[in-house]
Amino acid sequence: MGETGEGQAKDGIAALGEVLIPAINRVQDAFAAAGGLTFQLDLPQVAVVGSQSSGKSSVLESLVGRDFLPRGPDICTRRPLVLQLVHSAKGDEYGEFLHLPGETFTKFTKIRDEIEAETNRGAGSGKSISNVPIRLKIVSPHVLTMTLVDLPGITRVPVGNQPKDIEQRIRSMIMEYIKHQSCVILAVSPANVDLANSDALTLAKEVDPDGSRTIGVLTKLDIMDRGTNAVAALENKVVPLMLGYIGVVNRCQADINAGRDIRSAREAERKFFVQSEEYSSVAQVCGTINLAQRLNEILVRHIHKILPRLKRQIEFAREENFHKLQSLGDWSQSDSKSAQGALLLKMLTEYSQFFANHLDGQDGNLPANEVAGGARIRHIFQNIFVKELQGVDPSVTLTDKEIQTAIVNCSGIRGSLLMPEIPFQLLVRRLIENLLEPCLQCARFVCEEMIHIARRCEPERMGMLPNLQNNLRSAVQSYIEDCLTPTEEMVSNLVNCELAHINTSHPDFIGGSQAIATVLDHKKGLVEQSKKKFEDESQSLRQSLSTPFKMNPHEQSESLNSEQKKRKQDGEGTARDRQSGWIASIFGGTNKGNTESIYLQEPPKVLRVSETKNEQEELEVAVTRLLVSSYFGIVSKTLQDMVPKVVVHFMVNAVKSGLQKRLVQLLYKEDLFASLTKEHSDVATKREKCQKTLKFLHVAAHTLDSIPKVLDQSSSSGARSSSARRSSRRVSPKRNRSEYAGSENSHPNIKSPPEAPASERRKSSSGPLGRGLASVIGR
Ligand code: GDP
Ligand code: MG
Repeated sequence: MGETGEGQAKDGIAALGEVLIPAINRVQDAFAAAGGLTFQLDLPQVAVVGSQSSGKSSVLESLVGRDFLPRGPDICTRRPLVLQLVHSAKGDEYGEFLHLPGETFTKFTKIRDEIEAETNRGAGSGKSISNVPIRLKIVSPHVLTMTLVDLPGITRVPVGNQPKDIEQRIRSMIMEYIKHQSCVILAVSPANVDLANSDALTLAKEVDPDGSRTIGVLTKLDIMDRGTNAVAALENKVVPLMLGYIGVVNRCQADINAGRDIRSAREAERKFFVQSEEYSSVAQVCGTINLAQRLNEILVRHIHKILPRLKRQIEFAREENFHKLQSLGDWSQSDSKSAQGALLLKMLTEYSQFFANHLDGQDGNLPANEVAGGARIRHIFQNIFVKELQGVDPSVTLTDKEIQTAIVNCSGIRGSLLMPEIPFQLLVRRLIENLLEPCLQCARFVCEEMIHIARRCEPERMGMLPNLQNNLRSAVQSYIEDCLTPTEEMVSNLVNCELAHINTSHPDFIGGSQAIATVLDHKKGLVEQSKKKFEDESQSLRQSLSTPFKMNPHEQSESLNSEQKKRKQDGEGTARDRQSGWIASIFGGTNKGNTESIYLQEPPKVLRVSETKNEQEELEVAVTRLLVSSYFGIVSKTLQDMVPKVVVHFMVNAVKSGLQKRLVQLLYKEDLFASLTKEHSDVATKREKCQKTLKFLHVAAHTLDSIPKVLDQSSSSGARSSSARRSSRRVSPKRNRSEYAGSENSHPNIKSPPEAPASERRKSSSGPLGRGLASVIGR
């Protein structure tokens, strides 16, 4: 490490990174260590994506300056590797795995072995993959602090024990990381493959279409087809990205096989860019050292940008989990009998009160988008029961025949002289009896509704005490059903009372004489109407006859014939038929001269009233119908009014006022305390998870809050000032190429990252920070 490096690395963005990145790392570690938390936290990191063998692992090793990743011709990265690089000012160098707390690895070959072993533990020893990440921290004086995630490379053809859909699986694993806005995508593409076909860029485009958080890395610049180069791509002219591209040259397989170390590879890379004529325009922005510096800077800016959102996210999650924990209740304190009893009593009382409020519409939590609670019972009364009763029209349901049959039957053998009363009573009773069923149904509907409402009134935490919930449900249901019995009895009694006495003195009842008068009036009206009609018709007939009109003789005889024919069909035919009956046999008729015995026609098996009514019968039917309708209307109204009252008194109010007492009688028993307050097996797990999440969130909030406020606020200006410093020492492409390592991406064609204003990005160039970094990461 260079002597000036330490001091300068703490400058500007790098200094900010020294605070911000470890803080995020601590949050990440706590998050991973807690495991299985109830929420997702988008923490900033850099994910390395690319197709298999594009050089991802080579880039990572180059950044660390050590060989520590499993290598081979096959798929090696089979689990995500979250690599936390921590710059060590003290100069010590070691690795630590999160799954092996307290164990320090100073030999990087051992780190590689452990990655391999842990990959096998998590994904099996074949070629299958797993999305459970391995977390490795590398502390070194040769690294810049940042967090990278090495992901499996995209493959197309399944090998070994890989499933058929391996490509899809790897893609979705990569997506899981890069879809988050907090993730910077390091898209690695080999320069010897057409950039337009790059898997890395294709994937990145899906989640970052404008390329604002994607930085491109081109590997294998040294083995491109002779006569071709990647200058246009590096100048951001082929597939433009806002953060641009950085070219690197890693070791080839032969170098690795020959045991060439990374330091000498770095030197070779430096020489490649310094000596290459074709890459002279981009040499300053290429190479591993530039890559490290850019990544560190991008990550710091990125963290700084999303820090406020992250803090809010954590605060929101804390609140949410706090309420969740509260709703889960803390039954752990309810070990003693008295505590259990107190809890039980509290819940039963609260529930009963809540239920009563719900019925009265006093519950503030009634839903806004549907009719609920007591209003549903009112709906049953008004819109179902009353409406149905109002719809019953006895003048439609009772036919003339039924009425006449009742009249005939009630007058028995003696017949009747005056208007019969008994058929009215019989018919009205029959109609009242029909009202019993809808009245009882109304009570049953309300009973069912109350059971339904009772379920909705169960507090959320009741679900956590399954024994209490079950017992309470059946107790409430049986109590409501118990109340249905007296309700039904009372409703039946109401109907029976109506049946017991037909009150013909009811003030609203039409009464016999008024009924007769009404019918007669009505009839008179009809007679007058028809008389008028007849007169009108005769008048018009007279008029038509007085007009000179002559039929021809043929027409006249035709008309007469048809007239005669009709008369014959209508009258004479039927008269003859009638004569052919028993009357004819008595008075001679057609059977004149037949002296055989006389037989009576047998009475029919079923005797029905005749189709035609005489005047007296017509009057009787009309009057009876009017009486029945009038009286039925009175009874129906009484029941429409009384049944809801009975239901409310005997069931709704009875349940409301007596429920708590009944529940206490049934459930508040010392020998039931323990079982009723025993919580659901899930609840303990949920509570534990919630507590764990809260604990983590507390640590996370504390960690982020511990970032010095001054630094937090000044970071952007810090970043600006360091840029400004860099810009003051801008290196022209013609400057000594040996400075390339310390330069920043200053290519005019590379767009500035969104975090920094474009003007600054154009100005920025290499400077002391860049040179310092070069020494920090061990040139
Ligand atoms: P990964 O599958 O994406 O992790 O790719 P690796 O880093 O394992 O590299 C695949 C192969 O490409 C290895 O043999 C590397 O040595 C080789 N390789 C990687 N980068 C370069 C490079 O820049 N130049 C050359 N010549 N070979 C490289
Ligand atoms: Mg790899």
